[in-house]
Amino acid sequence: MKKITGWIVSVALCLSFFGCSPSSKTDGSLNIVCTIFPQYDFVRTLTEGQENVDVTLLLKAGQESHDYDPSSGDIASIHDCDMFIYVGGESDHWLDEILSTTEEENKKILALMDMVDPLEEETVEGMEESEEGHNDLSLEEYDEHVWTSPKNAMEIVRQLAGALVSFPEIDETMLRQKESAYLDALSELDKEIEKTVSEGNKDTIVVADRFPFRYLCEDYGIEYFAAFPGCAASTEPSSATLLFLTDKVKELSLSVVFKIEMSAANIANHIAEETGAKVLTLHSCHNRTVEEEERNETYLSLMEQNVENLKEALK
Ligand SMILES: [Zn+2]
Repeated sequence: MKKITGWIVSVALCLSFFGCSPSSKTDGSLNIVCTIFPQYDFVRTLTEGQENVDVTLLLKAGQESHDYDPSSGDIASIHDCDMFIYVGGESDHWLDEILSTTEEENKKILALMDMVDPLEEETVEGMEESEEGHNDLSLEEYDEHVWTSPKNAMEIVRQLAGALVSFPEIDETMLRQKESAYLDALSELDKEIEKTVSEGNKDTIVVADRFPFRYLCEDYGIEYFAAFPGCAASTEPSSATLLFLTDKVKELSLSVVFKIEMSAANIANHIAEETGAKVLTLHSCHNRTVEEEERNETYLSLMEQNVENLKEALK
């Protein structure tokens, strides 16, 4: 009796305080938890139509991923899930302690950065160095935004599919069909970006914001200038940065200056006023806004919009 009461109390606590659902050990479905949007979108696309799969995204729509603070419910769902997918970079340090106390034998824990070749963070001319990064004792700071290149996205999708098939809840034929269709779509996107770059008259973009697009630019041969590194905390530029980027837009006769999603766009707007360039968004897909979630935007649809904006910027 004591045992049963205890169980009821713990389930009640779990449901009322944490809002978590019982793990697969009790309800028979496969619970997958993702920290940020890209892997959530990849996994839900791969497992679409599968009945016994629950995919959870820890970030709420509109939440800035670099300010994310896990709730106790989030921590409980990481502990209870069957598969946990995070990025594995400097923004994920909050996970160190949680993962060290998570029993690994019962679950798969995957990091996107382990699935592809990571690149070191780069500070290009005119970019303000991140204050945090350089106090860090680690010698190599790898850029964590691996998903921003569709070439990496394809490799990540292949590896996620490979990990998913090992679960008995997964219908393998269905999964492989979704995988192949999704890889075709990503490959189309990849070709479109290559074409955009090769047909463009320009080869340089100015991102008057944080710059999480190292992999995109590296893989497709796009030169860039930007205000801050990808995960920089500060987005107040010095007057030297403003002047440098404004001059670059003038010097290269650029008709577009980029901002990133969920940005106040102060720097881009200022440069636009000074130069007559138009402000467009380059979406890094860390997360979706509430409106983007309502429109059911996907990694693919957000990247398609990026391609349109890149076409305009490079023409
Ligand atoms: Zn980031």
